[in-house]
Amino acid sequence: MIAIAKPLIGEEEKAAVLEVLGSGQLAQGKRVREFEERFAAWVGARYAVAVSSGTTALHVALLAHEIGAGDEVITTPFSFIASANCILYAGATPRFADIDPVYYTIDPASIEQQITRRTRAIIPVHLFGQPADMTAIAEIAEKHGLAIIEDACQAHGATLNGQPLGTWGAACYSFYPTKNMTTGEGGMITTNDAALAERMRILREHGMRVRYVHETLGYNFRMTDLQAAIGLVQLTRVEAWNAQRQRNAAQLTARLTGVPGVVTPQVRPGATHVFHQYTVAVADRDRTIASLSERGIGYGIYYPIPIHKQQVYRERGYTDVLPAAEAASQQVLSLPVHPALTATEVEQVAEAVMAAAREPMVV
Ligand SMILES: *Cc1c(COP(=O)(O)O)cnc(C)c1O
Repeated sequence: MIAIAKPLIGEEEKAAVLEVLGSGQLAQGKRVREFEERFAAWVGARYAVAVSSGTTALHVALLAHEIGAGDEVITTPFSFIASANCILYAGATPRFADIDPVYYTIDPASIEQQITRRTRAIIPVHLFGQPADMTAIAEIAEKHGLAIIEDACQAHGATLNGQPLGTWGAACYSFYPTKNMTTGEGGMITTNDAALAERMRILREHGMRVRYVHETLGYNFRMTDLQAAIGLVQLTRVEAWNAQRQRNAAQLTARLTGVPGVVTPQVRPGATHVFHQYTVAVADRDRTIASLSERGIGYGIYYPIPIHKQQVYRERGYTDVLPAAEAASQQVLSLPVHPALTATEVEQVAEAVMAAAREPMVV
């Protein structure tokens, strides 16, 4: 059995958790502070604020920008639902721009079409580990005075033209077990803006700067020292893991390029793609899935229903027609690319996809 994802937890993570358990300091404490400092240094941002998940990271980032009722925020419909739900949590209105059919990230031209006088921010998603077109997005944001909140939940360590994520505004990360690094559950927001970081620190902890003095409506979105201890160890490994993901991706692309009915993932010029997912577009997805399943190979469909077509949004009156996102949801298939795979296993994955392409169509 070859799984689509595999969290890598070693003896060092176990020892780090036991050490925290023995210390008696279980909630947010010195380990969280240390994790924030190391994470900020690693991604190349001035500040990092740890929170309880990628979802709460996005929520806090919006609140820290004072985005709420009456405001609109533009995001992509081709993502995990949290990329849009955070806008609803803040009381604002999501607006969906279509995606670029090659890179699957939000299409800057479509963003411009969604801008109204109520628009306050853009949430581009660095989908599958690949940076969105931040150069064009930053230009649009500048022109219209919009904030940028990057959803980097799948893109730990990705860069664009050497520029780290989070430096166009704020970037939100997730440490869910399937991501490029994990803390079980957890999240992080990075930014170069000191005032923004300070507001996020207050919001994650009941609106409090001084103990029991509550300046604003805040939340309990804290990370624990147990999670941070795991994160600190994972942080020493993630670069090697990303490099292995890139090698696995290169091996898949070498085998699958030119196979009829299979479109391999394209890397944006200037981008470091950290291959959270290796996502192909296939002409006959059902047949490819059958071939993978027969061989005990896991796969994922990210995402089978674009966000604007989910019931949550249909109930709220969304009737958008977004052809590129809708087409992608019918064609995409993510193959195992995680760093625990052997070269032989990667070969088996490629072989399963090629076998499906070779079989005659069953009519
Ligand atoms: C995982 C993910 C999130 C949410 O992160 P959680 O830690 O699961 O809350 C948000 N956006 C994207 C694109 C994700 O992949």
